[in-house]
Amino acid sequence: MNSKISKDLFEKSKTCILGGVNSPVRAFQAVNRTPVFIERAKGSKIYDVDGNEYIDYVCSWGPCILGHCEKGVIEAVQKACENGLTFGAPTKNEYILAKLIRELIPSMEMTRLVSSGTEAVMSAIRVARGYTNRDMIVKFRGCYHGHSDGLLVKAGSGALTQSVPDSKGVPADYTKNTLIADYNNEKSVEDLFEKYGDTIAAIIVEPVAANMGVVLPKNGFLQYLRNITTKYNSLLIFDEVITGFRLSIGGAQEYYGVIPDLTTLGKIVGGGMPVGAYGGKKEIMDMVAPIGPVYQAGTLSGNPIATAAGISTLTTLKNNPDIYNKIELQTNKLAKAAKDRFGDQVSVNHIGSLMSIFFTNQEVVDFDSAMTSDTENFAKYFGYMLDHGIYQAPSQYEAMFISNAHSDEDIEKTCEIIRNYTQIEG
Ligand SMILES: *Cc1c(COP(=O)(O)O)cnc(C)c1O
Repeated sequence: MNSKISKDLFEKSKTCILGGVNSPVRAFQAVNRTPVFIERAKGSKIYDVDGNEYIDYVCSWGPCILGHCEKGVIEAVQKACENGLTFGAPTKNEYILAKLIRELIPSMEMTRLVSSGTEAVMSAIRVARGYTNRDMIVKFRGCYHGHSDGLLVKAGSGALTQSVPDSKGVPADYTKNTLIADYNNEKSVEDLFEKYGDTIAAIIVEPVAANMGVVLPKNGFLQYLRNITTKYNSLLIFDEVITGFRLSIGGAQEYYGVIPDLTTLGKIVGGGMPVGAYGGKKEIMDMVAPIGPVYQAGTLSGNPIATAAGISTLTTLKNNPDIYNKIELQTNKLAKAAKDRFGDQVSVNHIGSLMSIFFTNQEVVDFDSAMTSDTENFAKYFGYMLDHGIYQAPSQYEAMFISNAHSDEDIEKTCEIIRNYTQIEG
């Protein structure tokens, strides 16, 4: 694989962009490689500046569920561009997208559009605090909810110890209201509620965790969260930035039949453009300005080009429900190939079109078990796959995303490359 131009661009970028990238994972640091710079993409394929072609299982970290450059999306964006890029005033597209969101995810009776998942989550938490008049929130170890200050937290030694920031630059005061529980561990949640129940505004959770690798909720776990938040008059927030419109057209809440009070969206909702959304029960959302006292705003929120891409993507998904069966079947084939090749050396978690191959012989059900993965082995596997034209997330702890553009041929080719892998024993 020739990567001369990518390497040169990376060096140049490093002189004026921190680490050469605008989001840290793109630097390929965790896999001991330098990033490939992308020139274009089409369908299931992505092409770098050196002319290498890859089958893409990153799909921009989820948004491109229809594949790259999907005709309808591109045409919608082109058409929208002709009328101007931004007005800072309400447009019809915003109404159409919000109505579509409510049709597909009925618990989002009222929605506010923003420009990223980070912004959606940050705003939903502010609303939850405003509505309940409480400050504490519960988040789970290994769940990611964007990079806002209060959510960059890892747990101390035990679930009940004070939270400490996960990043330099976050004042400890900003995270003191963030309590940490263990994913799939009901007892850890119960302990927090017994101690702090009256002051907990909300639980925020990725209903399927997909930022420590893909980790499925145990049977009954989400329902347990629904019950305990109801019991304590706290709110349940589903961060569906990844699962929304991916696990099913109605997201994880439809898939599992557990309905949160507030939902956050990102990634697919913008169809590849910067869109986030948060919403929920009208009574709760009525807290937001200009109706209520919780302030939240955005110069480019509901941008007409971005909403055009979102509307087109969601409409295509809505009109072609068979897409979900197809991408799940393709994912199952990849999971089987990995199991056939690696057996007990790996733990393969997958659901719908999300999948992770953990290089550990333990079952991965939470943060601790995910951390037993051999990241060096993953790095070798990643390098082999990349060199054979398979583009995957450059980290053990990210999901693989399968799109509707992945053909039987793409999948079979990928399975074949997995089956031919020989390095792990070494
Ligand atoms: C990606 C992600 C976010 C953050 O979204 P950005 O658009 O990157 O700000 C939040 N929550 C989850 C679950 C995510 O996967």
